[in-house]
Amino acid sequence: MTATARGADEQGARMRLAAMPEDWTRALAVVAHPDDMEYGAAAAVAEWTAQGKDVVYLLATRGEAGIETMDPAEAAGVREAEQRAGSAHVGVTEVEFLDHRDGVLTEGPALRSDIAAAIRRHRPELVLTLNHHDTWGGGPGSPWNTPDHRALGRSVLDAVGDAGNRWIFSEQFDVDGVLPWDGVRWVAVFASPGVTHAVSVGEEAARKGVASLLEHRAYIEALTDEDPEMYARSIVHGGLDLHADRNGGQRAVAFELHAR
Ligand SMILES: [Zn+2]
Repeated sequence: MTATARGADEQGARMRLAAMPEDWTRALAVVAHPDDMEYGAAAAVAEWTAQGKDVVYLLATRGEAGIETMDPAEAAGVREAEQRAGSAHVGVTEVEFLDHRDGVLTEGPALRSDIAAAIRRHRPELVLTLNHHDTWGGGPGSPWNTPDHRALGRSVLDAVGDAGNRWIFSEQFDVDGVLPWDGVRWVAVFASPGVTHAVSVGEEAARKGVASLLEHRAYIEALTDEDPEMYARSIVHGGLDLHADRNGGQRAVAFELHAR
């Protein structure tokens, strides 16, 4: 092997994304808004639920400030219904809302407490969340992330530790059956600029991922003049293609994985 070939080989190995862990049965996905799962990770959820894994969604808000042309009081109900319909396409039947206000999520004990309570109730081994970094990309000048996503994702990473500590938010144990839960083994952050792991997504899961985004029809129609089906397909397929070259050429959802 020449030095050049060895260099290329080493670079290939470095670039290759590791496989997501599969030895788990329960996951809790925690995001800020309706549609956060559907813009990226829902196709991975479809793969997992098809294998019999259990995935629950927890949303901090109803996304009521997300439709420019619709009053928040109306949008909250519309978006909740769209979220439940979208989740069903990927095998998720349990969808919970925390009722924090859309647009002004604040990193800190109030949000951490609500997330820790959900982790203690659902006892997941894997927690999923959306990019909490300042930007969407790694390079200079890449688009700025939203305050809700930053506050939510960082609070999720903290709440996983809180959930296992019986001296933090211990008033939650007054509810029957709620105990500390220190069984979260990984937190996986999707749409991160620093992904490390991937789960391959087949045709069927990709189709379900498109169907789940398409359920956010009121949101999409207010956002773009593009045909909603074309829009949903291009968003989901574009995301799945993004890291295929680092996943042996297979479409994938990629994650920044934090092991505990
Ligand atoms: Zn969002």
